[in-house]
Amino acid sequence: MSAPPATPTKAGSAVPEQQAVTTLSGVGPALAQKLERLGIRTLADLLFHLPLRYEDRTRLSKIAELSPREPAQIEGEILGAEIAFGRRRSLVARLRDDSGEMELRFFHFNKAQQDRLQFGGRVRVYGEARYGRRSMEIVHPELRWLKDDEVVALGERLTPVYPITEGLSQQSLRKLVQQALQKLANHEIVDLLPADLLREQRLPSLTLALRTVHQPPADIDTLALISGEHPAIVRLVLEELIANQLTFLRLREKARAQAATALPAEQTLTRKLLQALPFSLTGAQTKVLKEIRSDLQQPRPMLRLVQGDVGSGKTLVAAFAALNALGAGKQAAVMAPTELLAEQHLLNFSRWFEPLGIRCVFLAGRIKGKARDSVLADIRSGDAAFVVGTHALFQEGVVFKDLALVVIDEQHRFGVHQRLQLWEKGRSDDSQGPHRMPHQLVMTATPIPRTLAMTAYADLDNSIIDELPPGRTPVTTVVIPDNRRDEVIDRVRAASAEGRQVYWVCTLIEESELLQAQAAEATYDLLREQLAPLRIALVHGRMKPAEKQAVMQAFKAHETDVLVATTVIEVGVDVPNASLMIIENAERLGLAQLHQLRGRVGRGSAQSHCVLMYHGALSAMAKERLAVMRDSNDGFVIAEKDMELRGPGELLGTRQTGIMAFKIADIARDQKRVALAQQLARELLARHPQQVPPLIARWLAGREGYGQV
Ligand code: ADP
Ligand code: MG
Repeated sequence: MSAPPATPTKAGSAVPEQQAVTTLSGVGPALAQKLERLGIRTLADLLFHLPLRYEDRTRLSKIAELSPREPAQIEGEILGAEIAFGRRRSLVARLRDDSGEMELRFFHFNKAQQDRLQFGGRVRVYGEARYGRRSMEIVHPELRWLKDDEVVALGERLTPVYPITEGLSQQSLRKLVQQALQKLANHEIVDLLPADLLREQRLPSLTLALRTVHQPPADIDTLALISGEHPAIVRLVLEELIANQLTFLRLREKARAQAATALPAEQTLTRKLLQALPFSLTGAQTKVLKEIRSDLQQPRPMLRLVQGDVGSGKTLVAAFAALNALGAGKQAAVMAPTELLAEQHLLNFSRWFEPLGIRCVFLAGRIKGKARDSVLADIRSGDAAFVVGTHALFQEGVVFKDLALVVIDEQHRFGVHQRLQLWEKGRSDDSQGPHRMPHQLVMTATPIPRTLAMTAYADLDNSIIDELPPGRTPVTTVVIPDNRRDEVIDRVRAASAEGRQVYWVCTLIEESELLQAQAAEATYDLLREQLAPLRIALVHGRMKPAEKQAVMQAFKAHETDVLVATTVIEVGVDVPNASLMIIENAERLGLAQLHQLRGRVGRGSAQSHCVLMYHGALSAMAKERLAVMRDSNDGFVIAEKDMELRGPGELLGTRQTGIMAFKIADIARDQKRVALAQQLARELLARHPQQVPPLIARWLAGREGYGQV
C-alpha cells in the first residue's frame, strides 16, 4: 500500500489521479458537463467528492421491529394497493413479511406503478419508517421488484449518498466512483504524506482513507465519518489543510526573499501629526504602530495584517505607517474597495497630511482624460507622494516612482490573487539595483476568527487593535418585525427631534446594483411622505460619484436628517452625529456585514441605536443570528458566531473570490486541526521539500492566484 515517495511532477495527465473523468468508461461530453457542475474534472476531483451520508443496505429488518425515523431495508410481499383520499390523494400499498404488515405510501405515482402495485409480488424496499394511520409506513420507498424465488445478495458495504446535480443519479455517481477507485488501485494513488508522518499521527494511507469514505464496511462508526472525526476523514482533511498551509508558507518564503527599502522610524512628521490630533492614540493603536515600524525597518517587505473592530481607528494607524515612507522621501498608497470609501479616506488623509506639507492625490475609475493623465504623471514623477484610490491604482498605465508602502484597506473585499497582483504591481524596477517590493499593510474591516486567519491569511503577520477609542457607548440593538414599521417611523422622528441623524438602510439579496437602487428609490419616496417635513436624502451605487459625494457631504454637514442608502455605506462612512440606524430585511445579510453597517452609528458620544427589521417568519437560524447581533457589539465574538452558523465562505465573502474553496475540509468543523496542519506543513517543507509541489498541485491546481506560487 505504501507507494514510493512521489517524484516531483507537474500536475498533469502523467499523474493517474489527474486524468480527466472522461477517461472513465461511460463518461461522454454530456455527463462530463454535469460532473463539471459539481466541480469534478479529474479522477482526483471525483475521489475527493465525498458522500453526505450513508445508507445501510447490508441487512434486512423485520416489519415488527421497525422504529420511526430510522432508515430500514425490508423484504416482503406486496398484498395489493389502493388510492387513499386523505388531505392529499395517495397510493397506498400493503407490504407483509413473516413478522407483520406495513404500508408504503406514494403521493406521486403514475398509472403503471399503480397497476404494478395492485398486482402484487415480492419486493425489497428501503426507506425511513414512520407511524402511519393503521401501521408503520414508508413514504416513497426505494423499491426493487424480486422474482419469485430470486435471492439478491446484501451489500457488504454501506451505500454512499453523494451531493448530486440535476440529471445525475446517485446510482451513476456511485458507479463512477467505484470505477475511479478501481482504476487507481492498479497504479495506487501516490501517497504524498510521508509514512513517518502518517505513523506519528496514526492515520491511514490515502488509498485506504478513500476506500473507507466511499465504501465503508458495515460496522463503521458513520457518525464519526460524517462529523469528521474518523481517521479516514481526518487523513483527507489534514492533507488538504497542509496543502493550504504550504501554499502560504511558500508565498511567504518567496516574499521574504525579496528586497524592500528599509524605512527608519520617522520622528518629525509623526510628532507634528500627534500634536495636531484632538485626541491621543489608544494603547492598542500605539502597540500596533510599534509592530509596523519594526517591520518597516527591515530590508525585507513587511506583510502585515491589521485587524480591528469597526471604529477602532485603523485609518489613523495607516496614516502613521505612511509617514515612515513619506518622511524618507518615498511614496505610499492606500487602496480602498469602493469609491465612496476612497473619497472619505482622501478627506481624512488630506486633513492630516496637508498641514504637514504632504500632497494627497486621488485615483479612481471615474478620473478620466486630462485629469487622469495629470495624476498619472505626478505618480510617475514622484510629485505625488501620497496616493489614495480604488483598485484603479494598480491598473495598466499606473507607474510609481518609488512606492515603499501599500496599504490595502478593508481586505475582506479582495482575494489572495488580488493581493498578489497588487503587490507585483508595486515592484519598482530600479535600474541601479535589484527589484524592490513595497511593504504591505493589509487592514480588515471585519475581525476574522483566529483559525480562519490562519488559513486565509497565513502568509501575513498579524496585529490586532483590541481596544476602541474612549468615550464610545455601545450601540443598543433591537430586532423587530417589519409590520411594526409605524413604531420605527416614530423613533426616526424622535431621534431627529433631538437633533440626531438617521441612516435607513435598504437591503436586497440581489447582487444587481440596479435592483438595489430601485428598492432604495422606492423606500426614499415612501419615507419622504411618511416622515415629512424631515429632510431625506438618498445614496446608492448607481449614482454618479460626484452626486454620491455631494449627498454624503450634505449629510455630514447635517443639511439632511435621514439618509436612505443601500449597503454602499457599509464601510468607512463616518458621520458621528448619526445615532440611529434602521436596517430593513436584516435577516438577509451576513453578521459581519450587519456589524459593519451598524458600525456607522455609535461614533459620537450620544447613545446610539440600531433597529434590525425583518420580514415574515424567521427561521431558527435567522433568529439565532439576529440574536447574536442584539447581544453583542464585539466584532470578534460576532465573527466567531458567524463562522459557526454560516461557515467561513460567507464571512470572507469568498464566494466571489474563491480563496477558501476547500474540497473536503470545513473550517468551522475542522478548526481544531488547523494548528496541527500548520506545524506539519512546516516539517514537511523542511524535511520533504520534494513533496510540496505535488501536494499543492493535488489540492489547489487550477485555483486562481495559487498558480504562480
Ligand atoms: P476603522 O477602524 O473602522 O477604520 P476609523 O479609522 O474610521 O475606524 O476611525 C473611526 C473614528 O475614530 C474616526 O472618526 C477617527 O478619527 C476616530 N479615532 C481614531 N483613533 C482615535 C483615538 N485614538 N481617539 C479618539 N478617536 C479616534
Ligand atoms: Mg476603516
